[in-house]
Amino acid sequence: MSGWKARYYMRHVRLLKRKRPLLTPPAAGETATGLARVITRDGHPISRSRISPDALRVLYRLNEAGYQAFLVGGCVRDLMIGLEPKDFDVATNARPEDVRRLFRNCRLVGRRFRLAHVFFGREIIEVATFRASSAPPPGDEPIIDDETDDSDESQLDAGQDDEPQHDAHDELPDATLEGRGVDVERVIDAHGRILRDNVYGSIDEDVWRRDFTANSLYYNIADFSVWDYCGGFEDVQARRLRLIGDPETRYREDPVRMLRAARFEAKLGFAIDEATAEPIARLRQLMAGVPPARLFDETLKLFLTGHGVRSFEVLRARGLLEVLLPSIGEFVRRHPGSAPERLLLRGLANTDARVQSDRPVTPTYLFALLLYGPVGLEIEKMPRERWDDPASIVDAVDAAVRAIYTRVAIPRRFSLGVRDMFALQPRLETPRGKRALRTLEHPRFRAAFDLLQLRAEFGMADPAIVEWWQRLQQSDPQQRASMSEALGRESTDGPSTRRGGRRRRRGGRRPRGSSGA
Ligand code: ATP
Ligand code: MG
Repeated sequence: MSGWKARYYMRHVRLLKRKRPLLTPPAAGETATGLARVITRDGHPISRSRISPDALRVLYRLNEAGYQAFLVGGCVRDLMIGLEPKDFDVATNARPEDVRRLFRNCRLVGRRFRLAHVFFGREIIEVATFRASSAPPPGDEPIIDDETDDSDESQLDAGQDDEPQHDAHDELPDATLEGRGVDVERVIDAHGRILRDNVYGSIDEDVWRRDFTANSLYYNIADFSVWDYCGGFEDVQARRLRLIGDPETRYREDPVRMLRAARFEAKLGFAIDEATAEPIARLRQLMAGVPPARLFDETLKLFLTGHGVRSFEVLRARGLLEVLLPSIGEFVRRHPGSAPERLLLRGLANTDARVQSDRPVTPTYLFALLLYGPVGLEIEKMPRERWDDPASIVDAVDAAVRAIYTRVAIPRRFSLGVRDMFALQPRLETPRGKRALRTLEHPRFRAAFDLLQLRAEFGMADPAIVEWWQRLQQSDPQQRASMSEALGRESTDGPSTRRGGRRRRRGGRRPRGSSGA
């Protein structure tokens, strides 16, 4: 550290460290502190027993060291309405380097937005320093340092990703910006979108860069009060989603906020306030300018966190499906109520149920569901005799993945998984002898079988084949061998369970007789 930074650090950080305690607890009721309305412990329902002990540890240690320490964002909102928070985010006036000094189990991450991750086994408490302007906070932008592992992703699926790491904020290198005489602390593009912002500030500056009032409540560990700067407390109580500031400006700064509005509407059942909802139809095309890696993350948050069906409905109703996943939006617009659409919704419902019962879910399966319709259309572009050829199926999946890749960058390990799930379908539909046993060992067998089951449910595969595979899986090795031998004797074209004829429309849009909702 040198020059002005060192001088700034000496002056301000030392000063901040001496300020202690930072807030005199109000006596009772609600008191105004600075710009905030302070709701004391007896005025809100948040109990420490619902807060992660690790988050409490971080908050207390920061506070004991003389810093302000708050829970902030979604966790405060969720605690208010009795939901279990997904994660606990901490906001403080301690600088990232100060946080690192306080915690041994701490790592600084983020190239553009520095923030601290404090590790407790599998739980990570994210500690962000108050910022002075309306940049998206680091919590929203998982910009991971090279040294940081990707254990989050490995929980979702195994395998290696050979895609280059995307970084939403690597679009404009520092040198270029400085060379152009731009203020490197705050960079805004031609559409008003904030590309980078790293100015530290105080809590009453930090609040204005947050998205919705419901996400802008601070829970103060010093006296267990909640600080509310912009009416979030009432909005949460009224189950209302309202952007802070001028909605159009806020969407232009960061178009992902439109998706976040849809996500919170789906997840929380909050009503989007009229002024917050109105600009979405006009501005949704701005999504095209968002880095596709970030939209991949948002897609997972929309569909893999227990409210996928609702997310799909909300995205569709708000015209956002067409800008997030254009080929899928177009498919459901053109073929309303089709079998692939019903398959997708049933698959999302199954995924929601898995999340609710804490079973693992994978992006691979999600994208197989989402792409089912578009893959079918790609297959139908080919001559009919090639529809069951695994090579054609692979080509069709690749084409469908390419079509959405410019919007949503699916990492390669997941798109390869989608390929396998589709390419395995003909093998599942026409099991033959020993090959059936090998198929059972395929790493994607389970996912492919789940897809086959869904297809059968909507008239796109033979239910008897599903039943045969089910029996095979439940059998012991000896029974399996005799089942597969029996297959070999029966015919070269599969078990006698088949209804006859070649299966039509593997990814078919609307098998005869199955259209309609
Ligand atoms: P959940 O974790 O339940 O999905 P959340 O509100 O905690 O919801 P996060 O993405 O974890 O959402 O972000 C934490 C907080 O950071 C938000 O509550 C909000 O205050 C702020 N935030 C996140 N993304 C943005 C954004 N794009 N623009 C402005 N503020 C944001
Ligand atoms: Mg959160």
